[in-house]
Amino acid sequence: MKETIRVVFASLFLLFCFSTSAIAANETPTTAVKGELPPGLIIPEVARPGPAFNVDKATEAYVNLLNDEQRAKSDAYFENGYYLDVADTLIVVLIAAFLLFSGISRRMREMAKRVSHRPWLYTTIYVAMYFVLIFLLTLPWNIYMGFFREHAYGLATQNFGAWFGETLLGLGLSVLFGAPVLAIIYAAVRRVGKSWWAWTGAISFVFIIFFAMIAPVFISPMFNEYKPLPAGELRESLLSMARASEIPADNIYVFDASKQTTRISANVSGMMGTTRISLNDNLLNRTSPEEIRAVMGHEMGHYVLNHSLRLVVYITLVLTFGFLFVHFAFDGLLKHYGKRWDVSDRGDPAGLPLAMALLTIFMTVMTPLNNSITRQAEAEADAFGLAVAGEPHGFATAAMRLSTYRKIRPGELEEIMFYDHPSGYARVYRSMTWLKENQQDSRVVKAMQNNQ
Ligand SMILES: [Zn+2]
Repeated sequence: MKETIRVVFASLFLLFCFSTSAIAANETPTTAVKGELPPGLIIPEVARPGPAFNVDKATEAYVNLLNDEQRAKSDAYFENGYYLDVADTLIVVLIAAFLLFSGISRRMREMAKRVSHRPWLYTTIYVAMYFVLIFLLTLPWNIYMGFFREHAYGLATQNFGAWFGETLLGLGLSVLFGAPVLAIIYAAVRRVGKSWWAWTGAISFVFIIFFAMIAPVFISPMFNEYKPLPAGELRESLLSMARASEIPADNIYVFDASKQTTRISANVSGMMGTTRISLNDNLLNRTSPEEIRAVMGHEMGHYVLNHSLRLVVYITLVLTFGFLFVHFAFDGLLKHYGKRWDVSDRGDPAGLPLAMALLTIFMTVMTPLNNSITRQAEAEADAFGLAVAGEPHGFATAAMRLSTYRKIRPGELEEIMFYDHPSGYARVYRSMTWLKENQQDSRVVKAMQNNQ
């Protein structure tokens, strides 16, 4: 046991060195750049509708709202993310190798078996220990990624205590829910033999739907307070949009994200009876009504186009191929190393670090596919939002605000590989294209009169 503890601490130290050197290698030192755009709707002169309106020039005018310093900062934040994602995968693989070759994984299984010899129970105990150990081993990395890096770019608002409290809550939830789910998957794996990957895909689908359903009701409120949108002109205009799209009006909420982040955002969450649209208080308090209507039009697009269910189906399919990959790679590696690791077969929980590492490698390789599946749905919601809200300047301004931390104009291949949303440039371009074709839209005419 003493030796185990020593090995754990040694690896903690190694990981800490690794993550701090990654900081030094990847981060450009950030002076306190005030990254934000000024509040209120922004309409560059060139982007005003008229007979000479030109989509490219109007788009350029919006993009140029970011000065060189802001653009360098958002490019750096986003591009470093590419390397950090790869480092993330590397860490999972290194930890798996460490747990298997050091015999820690085998010893964890023996400890769990001392409590009970029932497979479902010792598997649950093993998985719980695995989650806690992974949490400890990746803590320095996660502190850097989730806390220091976010603060360095002015995106986080929490102090360390509050951040760490929420991180612990996240660990508690993954042990509470993740351990039984994995125990169920292991029970299936032990029963069904070679077709386990297909069964695991089906089980994953059921659990993803289940957690999507309970998330807005039980999980999100643990991190943020959700309230109905306060009465007033804005609420009325959003409710009118909701009614026009046949979205139940009592499903619009505001949540206090400003306690964690400076980002503006909104989302659709839940499934079937629990589906709702939530906007965060940064969006509500720091942007114009036109931007809010544009963003909420986008979210309503997700709702009406039933993206939640569609994305769950697509992602489950990718995951199932991931399980198939694990099936072949796991059995192959076990032939060579099974004795050395003391992992008997794929139903042995001591092999979990290997299965997790293989699945992580697969999902990293599939990043462009997963991003493209999501980005396509996002582009559809963009088109829906423009049509239903009729706020091209609101959407372009919001896209520019998001571009203070997302690289605004990636290369074509870069966008396919790394973007799960259309880039800021693509969104402004779409807004200006819509505007060109809808200059006589009564909402556009009215907005221009108000903004003379
Ligand atoms: Zn979206």
